[in-house]
Amino acid sequence: MLRASRCGKYLAVLALALASSLFAITGFAADRAHVVVLATGGTIAGAGADAANSATYQAAKVPVDKLIAGIPELAKVADVTGEQVFQIASESFTNDNLMILGRRVSALLKDPKVDGVVITHGTDTLEETAFFLNLVIHSDKPIVVVGSMRPGTAISADGALNLLDAVSVAANPESRGRGVLVVMNDQIDAARDVTKTINIKTNAFVSQWGALGMIVEGKSYWFRKVDKKHTINSEFDIDRLKELAPVEIAYAYGNVGKEAYSAFAAAGAKAIIHAGTGNGSVANRMVPVLRDLQDHGVQIIRSARVWGGFVLRNAEQPDDQYGWVVAHDLNPQKAKILASVAIASGMDAKALQKAYWEY
Ligand code: GLU
Repeated sequence: MLRASRCGKYLAVLALALASSLFAITGFAADRAHVVVLATGGTIAGAGADAANSATYQAAKVPVDKLIAGIPELAKVADVTGEQVFQIASESFTNDNLMILGRRVSALLKDPKVDGVVITHGTDTLEETAFFLNLVIHSDKPIVVVGSMRPGTAISADGALNLLDAVSVAANPESRGRGVLVVMNDQIDAARDVTKTINIKTNAFVSQWGALGMIVEGKSYWFRKVDKKHTINSEFDIDRLKELAPVEIAYAYGNVGKEAYSAFAAAGAKAIIHAGTGNGSVANRMVPVLRDLQDHGVQIIRSARVWGGFVLRNAEQPDDQYGWVVAHDLNPQKAKILASVAIASGMDAKALQKAYWEY
């Protein structure tokens, strides 16, 4: 008996020693989430000349390792590793950037050692990247996109807390299967609903249908789920997508003419998002212009330039008769992302319209 219990103790000590040396080698504890931070630039990696510079600074300056090292609290939340994917301001994002980032996110989430991914991003096009990932990444692991409105060098900078919150959300198993999340200003928003509404204040991001939850001192408080298809239920897949279809956005206003629409078509656009006034309205003189483009193979998609616009099919225009599509509640920039993915995936007008209802 004595022998057996001594032997048991010996084995337990050996197991403990093995586990701790494994931790020393890999740096990862088995019971903690491993979150990868993919850095792309933006204000969250920005730096200004003076602490009083909250709006005058250079975006995309600070490398990811420095960002992570600047927040020691991250180590209490998860095992965090960083990768610098790009170092750019997000207005400079291209379709190629989206594809490269999407492929990297997909590959990382297939790794059983990775529990979640955080993407640091400039806020200008953050919503476009988040919605793109929401459509094309087949994983229920948390994907969180985060930015900041002030550079880290500013008084009352918001980036460090936003990043800590984003990692906390990504490390939390409760975040799984909710689609791509945007975490900023204590709030957890759905990629499809959220949009940047102001270029100065820290509460810049607002969801058309309300936030999904709040994150306070590392704890997530959830209030609702998105009813639309995303990630694991999406029929789009980054691994099958070779490129994004060329889709452009034409902004409508009083006295608008056909020039931008014609130029986009001549440059090879497969679809034009009409960022229409009001209910995705089309000026009388523009109706024949858009119908002609549609007849020549350029898909016309009506969206609204109005914040929170909600375009209904066959209401303001007879879309069935003209073969046009409506973007429903998606703003023009998100309507563009969905069309670029859907057309590249071989969808015709009917399938595209269905996608606008479903995603
Ligand atoms: N325009 C820059 C960008 O989108 C900075 C804005 C920001 O990140 O808040 O990356």
